[in-house]
Parts: sequence; C-alpha cells; structure tokens
Amino acid sequence: MRWTLVGASTIAAEYMIAAFRAQPGDEVHRLVSSSAERGAAYAAKHGIPHSGTSLSEALADPETDAVYISTTNEKHLAEAMAAIAAGKHVLCEKPLAMTPDEAVQMVRAAEAAGVTFATNHHLRCSGSHRAIRDLIRAGRIGRVLSVRLFHAVHLPPHLQGWRIDNPAAGGGVIPDITVHDADVTRFLLDEDPVSVVAQMNASGMGQGVEDSVMSVWTMPSGAMVFSHESFTHPFAGSGLEVHGTEGSIFARGVMTQRPVGEVELITARGSETVPYSVADLYATGVAEFVAAVQGKGQPAATGADGVKSLTIALAVREAARTGQRQTISYPKI
Ligand code: NDP
Repeated sequence: MRWTLVGASTIAAEYMIAAFRAQPGDEVHRLVSSSAERGAAYAAKHGIPHSGTSLSEALADPETDAVYISTTNEKHLAEAMAAIAAGKHVLCEKPLAMTPDEAVQMVRAAEAAGVTFATNHHLRCSGSHRAIRDLIRAGRIGRVLSVRLFHAVHLPPHLQGWRIDNPAAGGGVIPDITVHDADVTRFLLDEDPVSVVAQMNASGMGQGVEDSVMSVWTMPSGAMVFSHESFTHPFAGSGLEVHGTEGSIFARGVMTQRPVGEVELITARGSETVPYSVADLYATGVAEFVAAVQGKGQPAATGADGVKSLTIALAVREAARTGQRQTISYPKI
C-alpha cells in the first residue's frame, strides 16, 4: 500500500514511518503539513518523495491508498472525513477526535464508504499485553478482582508543546494517556467500564490542562480498576497488575512504545516469568491494518474501540472536574 502522512509529527518520525516501511511492498508516498518549508525538510529527512500543504491535492492522488493522521487532536475529524470521502483507508491517531460524537461521525462515514478505519492504540499490539490477556482468558488467575495501571511518566522536553498548554488542540494527560489506559483495560478484560470517580491536578507541567490524574473504574463484572497517568513523574516507571482469585500478574515497564518490560505470574504454584513476543508494536498494528484492508480480520483497534476509549477518558475528566461519579454512556455507532 502507498501511504500519505497527514502531519509532520514526532510519532511518525520516531515510529510510524518505519512501521509502514516494515510491511512488504508498503511505501510512504506523501506528506501533508501546514508548513511548506517544514514539510519539505521533514520529507527530505525521511525520504518521502512528495510533500505539500494541500490535503485535497494529496487525496486526489490515485496513488495514495491509505492515510495516516497524526496531527494535533482537534484536526483529526476534518482530515479523516476528507480522507474517507476520497475513498482512502484511514489509520487515525488517538484520541480519534475531541468528542465521542465526532469520533462516531468518523466511524460511520468510514462504514458508509466501505473503507477501513482504525485507531492507533499501540499497546494492544504489544506482546506483553497480549500475553497478559491470554493468561486472563485461560483462567490462570481465576476471576479478575482488580487491575492497577501505572502510567505516570515524564513527558520528554521535545513533546512539551501543545500537550501541556493547549486545550483547544486536545492537550492534557487525559486525552493523551488515559485514553490508552482505557483501551488497555478494555482489551485485557473484554468489558467496558460502567462508571468512574477521579481526581486530576496540574503538578508542575500543565498550564490550563491537567498533567496528572488518578481514577477508579467499576467494571460490569465487579472488578475494580485503578488508573494513574501523569506527565511529571521522572522516576515512577510504568506497569500494570491484574489480580484474580487464583493468581496475580505483575507487569513492569510495559506501558511503553517499545517491546520491553517483564511479566510475572504468581499463583499458589509459585512465581513464573511469562514469555512474550518482542515484535515492534507499531509495525504489528500496521500489519493488522493492512490485513484488514485485504479482508483478513479487523484492525488491532477499530474505530469503535477509539470511540470507547475516548468516551471513557472524557468521563474520567468530567468525574475529576465535577467531583461526581460519572456513569459512562457510550454513544451508539
Ligand atoms: P507533534 O507535536 O510532534 O506533531 C503534531 C503536529 O504539530 C504536526 O502535525 C505538525 O504540524 C506540528 N508540528 C510538529 N513540529 C512542529 C514545529 N517544529 N513547529 C510547528 N509545528 C510543528 O505531535 P505528536 O507526534 O507527539 O502527536 C501527534 C498525534 O499522535 C496526536 O494525536 C497524539 O495523541 C498522537 N500520538 C500517538 C501515539 C501512540 O503511541 N499512538 C504516541 C504519540 C502521539 P503539520 O502537520 O502542520 O506539519
């Protein structure tokens, strides 16, 4: 497939261009940037043959099969709708949009147009997360009682732009990281939270947006989920724990963009290290997207998954803002 990148972004430079090129026969064909100069420099640096500022011109190119959107969050809706209208398959960054209703529009438009549309939730492409899910599904820890997600990181200086000071662009740790943790929880437990309580804070980085949040979610099964996200914790490390009636899973260093970290299962029989695939997370996601375009299965995270993760994240923000438990109402797709 030939890809057009919409957004001269860090995530494309650091991970996604390589992930597209890792697919046999796939090419990164075009770049669309709001700045001709910056776009041309980015395209030259990454060996992308064409760059320009016109999305409609790029979408009119019959050689573009699929579009990857990684602009700031407030732009995703209009760009995705244009790409879908042009008949292109779309892999869109999380959060899909600024509101669940906008995200629903994107999913419905893609369905009506018959194109593949997916959300780039990379963590469900991680071998460690897939191994944890397999353990849970195989009943190795019995009935799940609780999940604790540790995702308090230190936002590196080169990412301390719109994320920490621009609510209109979708800044804040909740749309940035809680949205991933919502997807991880849904992926691991195969159920959607029904309500949340939360508190948020600006603890040194956020200006006009939250940079830290803690929330507790109630799952339909009765399991409880505790989730902690932050931009301001240099030494906290990341991880997740899943505790069940017959065992516990401890995963350290696994809330990352790379296939790293350790997974340990503890049961009455003792402790064991859980092996997992160390395939690149983003290349795995792109491979599953390409397969879906070819009629083989679903993308790793569908548009509907992106709608739900955004709905949960925004419920967390509303719970923190109001101090009131929020019952989560998922929009119909
Ligand atoms: P960046 O800030 O790197 O890029 C976002 C936009 O900022 C680009 O589209 C670009 O605009 C503009 N931009 C970039 N550099 C400059 C500059 N020097 N001067 C002015 N404007 C600039 O964002 P990220 O790559 O961190 O995030 C992009 C999207 O990807 C977000 O939606 C984010 O949530 C998501 N993301 C997802 C990840 C995942 O693992 N799934 C990880 C990281 C991000 P233009 O396009 O006009 O050139």
